[in-house]
Amino acid sequence: MMAAITARRLGAQVTILERNARVGKKLLATGNGRCNYTNINIGISCYHGANPGFARYALTHFTVEDALAFFKKLGIEPKVEEEGKVFPMSEQASSVLDVMRYELEESGVNTVCEALVKSIEPSKEGFLVEIDNGQVYKADRVILAAGGKAMPASGSDGRGYDLAQQLGHRTTDIFPALVQIMLEGPNFKRIEGVKINGTAEIIHNNRSVAIDRGDILFANYGVSGPPILQLSRKAAELLRDMQEVYLKINMLDSMSKEELLGLLTRRLQNAGAKTIEFSLVGLINKRLIPVVLMEAGIEKLKRRAVDMKAREIDELTRILTDWRFKIRGTKGWNSAQVTAGGVDISEIDPDTMESRLIPGLYFCGEMIDIDGKCGGYNLQWAWSSGFVAGQSAAL
Ligand SMILES: Cc1cc2nc3c(=O)[nH]c(=O)nc-3n(C[C@H](O)[C@H](O)[C@H](O)COP(=O)(O)OP(=O)(O)OC[C@H]3O[C@@H](n4cnc5c(N)ncnc54)[C@H](O)[C@@H]3O)c2cc1C
Repeated sequence: MMAAITARRLGAQVTILERNARVGKKLLATGNGRCNYTNINIGISCYHGANPGFARYALTHFTVEDALAFFKKLGIEPKVEEEGKVFPMSEQASSVLDVMRYELEESGVNTVCEALVKSIEPSKEGFLVEIDNGQVYKADRVILAAGGKAMPASGSDGRGYDLAQQLGHRTTDIFPALVQIMLEGPNFKRIEGVKINGTAEIIHNNRSVAIDRGDILFANYGVSGPPILQLSRKAAELLRDMQEVYLKINMLDSMSKEELLGLLTRRLQNAGAKTIEFSLVGLINKRLIPVVLMEAGIEKLKRRAVDMKAREIDELTRILTDWRFKIRGTKGWNSAQVTAGGVDISEIDPDTMESRLIPGLYFCGEMIDIDGKCGGYNLQWAWSSGFVAGQSAAL
């Protein structure tokens, strides 16, 4: 949509071929229905792929300020929230889609829906694009913006990669990213739905290789929540390479381990007639208490807390600050917010988004081997790369 609007504004005749009944379905699901459409703290370090530097030109050519101004002109007032995330003031993802669709129509882009592109063939006079009902469209230039494979029900189900490959482009391995993590452990059913605010780390070869903090939600398969989504890419990458990976959770990260040990010792000494189990009420979520004590190897929870041994208090401190789980996988494409991997960037010119193999063919968005962190970075990449592709294709 961004590429189409940009090219049209520069005078090109533009047709969008969209397989769904309407364009932009995925946008409606973004930001929990509020569309986190950019982030004011953007930087190249927020992106992943074989070479994230590939994204630099587009992101500096169509910046966050440009995106804010573009959407403001269309009617979207920005609302900046924590960590620089930007949402429409209306709090509705549908507003972003509504104004884009309005602009497509106003600017004279021809939008053809229920048109699944089956093949794109370079010809002497440009390209022949065939859709599923057999109709063929002729084009001087083609921008391939078919998205990745995350949330296939939105229409982007990975077929864009087949089209790129048909045209001779290489694609790297793809895997779901910004996705929930599945853990090994017998107790997840008991703590399903419990939310804690803490730190999560990916541990590989006993070293921390990625860390994030925020709300962590226990689920029957493992964990979800913003820090988990951020860490999922690293976990998936290591699992793909057949590595053993662990998740470490520190649920009381506002104090050091020593401070917590001191606090626990004092609490337990002053617990009077309270049981071990009851002595933790007010410190951690009640539903976590029996599970955490079990993990710490502490039995007979109805014993008096004052009778706890130093070794048991040490072990409890460890579980509360360094609870480790073996990662057995990540959830799949239906749950993922973005695709890691995609069309090989060495075959695309980053300054124009044009194919280095086929003149007149352009790429943009999630289908390229660039993916961003959670927080508005993926849509900004879609806007920036779409703008550059639209501009280059129209000139
Ligand atoms: C649940 C969820 C929440 C998200 N939240 C955010 C967020 O808040 N902020 C953020 O920055 N990012 C978010 N993302 C990621 C972001 O939505 C995507 O990275 C972005 O939409 C990618 O844009 P795109 O144009 O490249 O692809 P898409 O938005 O996937 O669009 C591709 C379009 O191509 C169409 N298509 C595919 N193949 C064909 C074909 N063969 N013929 C015709 N049409 C075809 C599809 O139907 C689709 O409409 C979220 C993703 C999900 C799944």
